[in-house]
Amino acid sequence: MAENAAPSQLTGEKKRILTGDRPTGKLHLGHYVGSIENRLRLQDEYECFFIIADLHTLTTKPEKEHIAALTDNIREMVLDYLSAGIDPQKSAIFLQSGVIETYELNLLFEMLISVARLERIPSLKDMARAANLEESMPFGLLGYPVLQAADILLPRANLVPVGKDNESHIEATREIARRFNYLYGDVFPIPDVLIGDVPSLIGIDGQAKMSKSLNNAIFLSDDENTVNQKVRGMFTDPNRIRADIPGRVEGNPVFIYHDAFNPNTAEIDDLKERYLKGTVGDVEVKRKLATAINNFLAPMRERRASYEAQRGMVDEIIAEGTTRTRIEAQKTMALVREAMGMYRISERR
Ligand code: ATP
Ligand code: MG
Repeated sequence: MAENAAPSQLTGEKKRILTGDRPTGKLHLGHYVGSIENRLRLQDEYECFFIIADLHTLTTKPEKEHIAALTDNIREMVLDYLSAGIDPQKSAIFLQSGVIETYELNLLFEMLISVARLERIPSLKDMARAANLEESMPFGLLGYPVLQAADILLPRANLVPVGKDNESHIEATREIARRFNYLYGDVFPIPDVLIGDVPSLIGIDGQAKMSKSLNNAIFLSDDENTVNQKVRGMFTDPNRIRADIPGRVEGNPVFIYHDAFNPNTAEIDDLKERYLKGTVGDVEVKRKLATAINNFLAPMRERRASYEAQRGMVDEIIAEGTTRTRIEAQKTMALVREAMGMYRISERR
């Protein structure tokens, strides 16, 4: 086994994090500020489990052609994690469908929350609408937050770093954990949600949150030229048709990105001041932004190149992380069955 894929040093003494992403495409700056930044910051302090939520993709895309795309997406996403600085020696990166206890806990949790409660979660309606499934909501899509609760509670996680759009799902997890503990005894922690510094990053189109599917994303894997091009085309203040017209800074995507990715606050203050007065052009603001984003992505590009050079590494990391997670999942399921007191065939005389 290659050195980087050596068993993670998960000690069992730290508090735990669970979070992750659906493997539906490459990760972008929105994912970074919404969740990955917190994962990086906390990966020493917590024992971390990062889920590749392939089962969740089936809730809106069960067709075989979509499943076929997952393999590449999964490898791409794990490369994104590693490039961003997630350390597989410290944290488990695992495949949801490879932890089969997930299916079992999901079913048990389905008994602990009402249909009406799930129907009140607004993001589910949004997802159904986006997938053209509004009139025929799949049972599994309504159960999206229940499956998420199974993911989070299988390793008995204490903290869930996610973007703002996931907050209501984590609330459902908390309710399910409380309900389980009330009915059967204390098995699960009640996990806290941790929202990123930028709860929901706007896209380069300035119209909607940055998203893989809306063609408004800057990806962690974009090269320098692509970043320059995307930033040049960014939406700014639509009323500002000339550089000498005073512009709007608040809510302006270029300044939101400067605040998020440019560490040079003196430069940002100067640009904002001149923008408000109408003494700086969009071109300069964007050129400095592109430089800042490229500087931000530079170490990721380096790490990516080194991981890409090690063939098979990504698959090994996933396999190892999945094994680690299953061990914890099996421990939890033993506690769950014990607490519930279900009849067990092995106890027959
Ligand atoms: P996309 O919307 O780009 O298709 P997604 O919603 O499919 O991404 P998920 O797997 O649902 O991706 O989300 C992964 C994590 O990234 C979640 O915690 C989510 O809240 C966060 N996230 C996604 N987009 C953004 C954004 N623009 N700003 C902040 N956080 C985000
Ligand atoms: Mg989402």
